Amino acid sequence: MKIVLASRNKKKKKELQALLSQYIEGIEILSLDDVGIYGEIEEDGETFDENALIKARTAAESGYIGVGDDSGLEVDALGGAPGVYSARYAGGHGDDEANNEYLLKNLEGVSDRRARFVSCIACVFPERYNVEPFTVRGKVEGEILCERHGNGGFGYDPLFYYAPFDKTLAEVTQEEKNSVSHRANAIKLFAEKLRTLNIEE
Ligand code: IMP
Repeated sequence: MKIVLASRNKKKKKELQALLSQYIEGIEILSLDDVGIYGEIEEDGETFDENALIKARTAAESGYIGVGDDSGLEVDALGGAPGVYSARYAGGHGDDEANNEYLLKNLEGVSDRRARFVSCIACVFPERYNVEPFTVRGKVEGEILCERHGNGGFGYDPLFYYAPFDKTLAEVTQEEKNSVSHRANAIKLFAEKLRTLNIEE
């Protein structure tokens, strides 16, 4: 089975290939570049699911099954922010340092610091499959600390305290993070769903 991942990130493609191969034998992940789809995809959805679907639809234009993902941080006391704006919360895209600083500022004096990382994966099928699109959602629950701890991971990991480890996700190994992460949970749900559909190539 061939699947096109709506990403140009080689690391993401490799990660998905490794994880999905554990669940679905012979699965092959292609990137947008591999199938000649170029240009930016506009992620203007209001939810993780919408953004994941926008990306998956673009990937499915290749004629292969299309997969898209979107992830981010939801903080309860901030009404779910930064949400789909996680990467650009403080303005510039992907400025982790500024995003963490802005998050701490917005949570000054707030005692309810519950939060979660969410990862949505969407799957869209070309017409000949006659299968409806679907989305799955993985999450990991934690709390936002008042200061950073650890140098590992990326994004909001240094502020994200995960009680079962009694550490932030920036203080654990990649393997430990993968064993509980929103992304790993979503990929597992995605693989299970895809397997139950029994897609014939
Ligand atoms: P993306 O959809 O995977 O590109 O993630 C969007 C943004 O959400 C990232 O830029 C991070 O700010 C945040 N984020 C997503 N996953 C993680 C994670 O595992 N750790 C920390 N931050 C994350």
